Amino acid sequence: DEMTGPRRIRALHQDVVNKIAAGEIIVSPFHALKELIENAVDAGSTSLEILVKDGGLKLLQMTDNGCGINKDDLPILCERFTTSKLKAFEDLTSIGTYGFRGEALASISHIAHLAITTKTADSSCAWRAHYAGGHLAPAKAGQTSDPKACAGRQGTQIAVEDLFYNVPTRRRAFRSASEEYAKIADMVGKYAVHCKGVAFSCKKHGEAGAGLAVPANASVKDRIRMVYNSATANELIEIELQNDQYGFKTDGLVSNANHSSKKTTCLLFINHRAVDSSVIKKAVEQTYSTFLPKGGKPFFYLSLEIDPARVDVNVHPTKREVNFLNEEEIVEMICDEIRTRLGKVDTSRTFMTQS
Ligand code: ADP
Ligand code: MG
Repeated sequence: DEMTGPRRIRALHQDVVNKIAAGEIIVSPFHALKELIENAVDAGSTSLEILVKDGGLKLLQMTDNGCGINKDDLPILCERFTTSKLKAFEDLTSIGTYGFRGEALASISHIAHLAITTKTADSSCAWRAHYAGGHLAPAKAGQTSDPKACAGRQGTQIAVEDLFYNVPTRRRAFRSASEEYAKIADMVGKYAVHCKGVAFSCKKHGEAGAGLAVPANASVKDRIRMVYNSATANELIEIELQNDQYGFKTDGLVSNANHSSKKTTCLLFINHRAVDSSVIKKAVEQTYSTFLPKGGKPFFYLSLEIDPARVDVNVHPTKREVNFLNEEEIVEMICDEIRTRLGKVDTSRTFMTQS
């Protein structure tokens, strides 16, 4: 009797398992875009063009000018745990590229319509392929799923359409396209500041100009000016620090004591991956509190490079959280350096008003 005895345990259908796993990696459109940005940068691109429709739910399109993908790799491109970046578990400790587990494209293919056009330098034409559920799929009913030859420039274009089309509960959770677009623009802005030598453009479908545009040769300060504003870019001080004992170095630009906002702007990269760290954010805010008017908050961009052997990037599939050894000591050293630099700027200002 079903009402009294224990219910029988059954394995979930593989398709359901894959969708659940994908939804944990790709939580919202900007997570998908972050993976596409990291892949494009890993591919050596110097130009990233992003097109967004309906907050990324209708379309997320990335066009890069990187190395492209070999035609022969296209059949396994979207299978789970296929990657050109990691061979053994030990590599996890020395990996320099962004992605490393070969899960991003696989995940996306389970919860969106995915189309890829790519061309390598030594291929005479580009190849176009569609994916569903981790495998090549026909573009339209009645067609074969083999990649099709087509015209195209070197690099890769990835179009993610109808994200979460088969996960209705997730799809319904997104109420505002403009809210999702804001998160996308925020993410693109961070990478546009960090990725020196790379041009970025991000456009909302149907709008004439790009919402965000940064040329490849722009300095970091100019990138901050273009993505944020001149008021911020004009009040920055450089931070540079290195320590062999804890195996890290950091550089970045942080606001000086003349700059004060209602909200902290925090651009934090660890080994070139954008991460969130409430610990670092709080510590930096605390450092500024004695230099800024009450309630005033800083802008800071820090690129932290930590010996990969000391970093555990394998915490969570979304890879937004990163653990590393001696975090407390490292954060303290960075804050000390900011404090010293803020102090110096302060002195020179006093000196100037006196003279
Ligand atoms: P990972 O980045 O962890 O390897 P992904 O699923 O993000 O896993 O990508 C799988 C593989 O597809 C990558 O290892 C890379 O070889 C290839 N790839 C993905 N995006 C691009 C791109 N824009 N240009 C060139 N190759 C790419
Ligand atoms: Mg990747």
